[in-house]
Amino acid sequence: MSKTFVKKSVKQVYLLIQLKRFGVLATNLIDQRTNIDMNRIVLKLGGTIMVLFLIVLLPLGYVANQILTNFYYSQVEDEIVELSEKYAQTIPSLQDENILNMYRNLAELTNKEIYILDESGDIVINSGVVINNLSEEDFSMMSKGQDLQKMFVDDQTDISYLGSGYPIIQSGQFAGGFFVLAPIDEIQEPIRKIRDLLILSAVGAILLALGFTFLLSKRMSRPLLEMEQATREIAKGNLNISVNIPSNDEIGSLGKTINNLAVETNRYRSNRREFLANISHELRTPLSYINGYSQVLKQGLYQTEEERIHYLTIIENESERITRLISDLFDLSKMEEGQFDFFMETINLSKVLENAISKIKMAATNKGLVIKKHVDENRHLIQADKDRLEQIFINLLANAVRYTEKGAVSVKVWQEDNKVHVIIEDTGIGIPKGELPYIFERFHRVEKSRSRELGGTGLGLAIVKQLVELQNGTISVNSEIGKGTSFQVSFPNAE
Ligand code: ADP
Repeated sequence: MSKTFVKKSVKQVYLLIQLKRFGVLATNLIDQRTNIDMNRIVLKLGGTIMVLFLIVLLPLGYVANQILTNFYYSQVEDEIVELSEKYAQTIPSLQDENILNMYRNLAELTNKEIYILDESGDIVINSGVVINNLSEEDFSMMSKGQDLQKMFVDDQTDISYLGSGYPIIQSGQFAGGFFVLAPIDEIQEPIRKIRDLLILSAVGAILLALGFTFLLSKRMSRPLLEMEQATREIAKGNLNISVNIPSNDEIGSLGKTINNLAVETNRYRSNRREFLANISHELRTPLSYINGYSQVLKQGLYQTEEERIHYLTIIENESERITRLISDLFDLSKMEEGQFDFFMETINLSKVLENAISKIKMAATNKGLVIKKHVDENRHLIQADKDRLEQIFINLLANAVRYTEKGAVSVKVWQEDNKVHVIIEDTGIGIPKGELPYIFERFHRVEKSRSRELGGTGLGLAIVKQLVELQNGTISVNSEIGKGTSFQVSFPNAE
């Protein structure tokens, strides 16, 4: 194996390791990103609160710092002005060494520097400071009796001082200048300490705010993430899900809405399933009759002509039932989707009811039933579609005749509280109390075989309810087993 080959291989392995490392790093980064994405609300909320915090804190800090600095400077300035004035006024002689030393000691006691010049600007005494920026102009102003406040710089140490100089007047003559100096560093020291304290408390406050923001946004985002997860599950079709958000605010109400959505969608799904199962069942029964009897006819399995006619009549009846079922279903779905056209006009309800009764009369008479009418003398004007209104009455009257063996069907019409009321009552088999809340549902039948035997599709009352409500009316039912049933329909009066 050549040396270069080994080198190359080692290089390749190294490259591979690096690539793998990069891959792991990239995956970690992506994971972190999704994590960040997932908690984006935490970042947004946290960021906003932090920005607000800084907007308030920074100017506040700046102003506090300014106030503090000015306060300290003016305090020290007042002090040195007062001292220099006092010293300049009280110094009896510039020649007496003892007196000069006394002033130097005084300055030391008050932690200040002193600097005395004679009338020609030469230094008489100083406490170690040699200032270099006292101009001739400054001095001549002083010799004219003016005091002076400015920043001075020590010639040797380059230390800055805040200084105040006062002219010394002896026997009415300018005898020199007395300067009291305070080192800037010393003034700045307490300011710096307070500033450090301020910064420390600001950092503490920011950290506290950060922690608080993090907790708050976590608290806020947790239910949101939970709800997001729940809606994803709902979208996937997992409807047995519910979120538990106990708060009473908007987020809580959103959680409740999501729970309701899941419940409603679940109900809708099982309704639809039930509905499809019902339809296939309803179609299968007549189709099996048609199929069976047509086989019988095809194979000539009948004895008499009468028998043949009987089988043909069954086939005819069952195909009619399928046609009725399909047309009822079509009407119902159109009504539920709001695509059923109504030709609304002002009509006399009694007249429409009269027509419906005349159409049902024959079936009633065939069963030995009478239809009694109790209609008051008013004109019962309502806003409705004549044909759809007639359909309501025909369905209710047909049911009354269908489920009554003996007695009568009575119809009552009257006007009350700006409404026209109709009651269709029978003396039939009645409906059990527990069934009453469901009888307006599609395909709900108290006795399935009986209804089918009597030609019902199980859609009549569902259609009636839709038709009544779409024409601004209301419908209610009362019933007692073995005694009879009464349906009351009410419409707003059109007069
Ligand atoms: P159907 O076509 O089966 O009559 P409907 O929707 O018209 O369907 O009625 C639903 C169920 O309500 C019926 O199957 C029957 O059990 C019950 N029902 C309706 N009207 C009456 C009535 N007047 N007396 C007794 N039961 C009734």
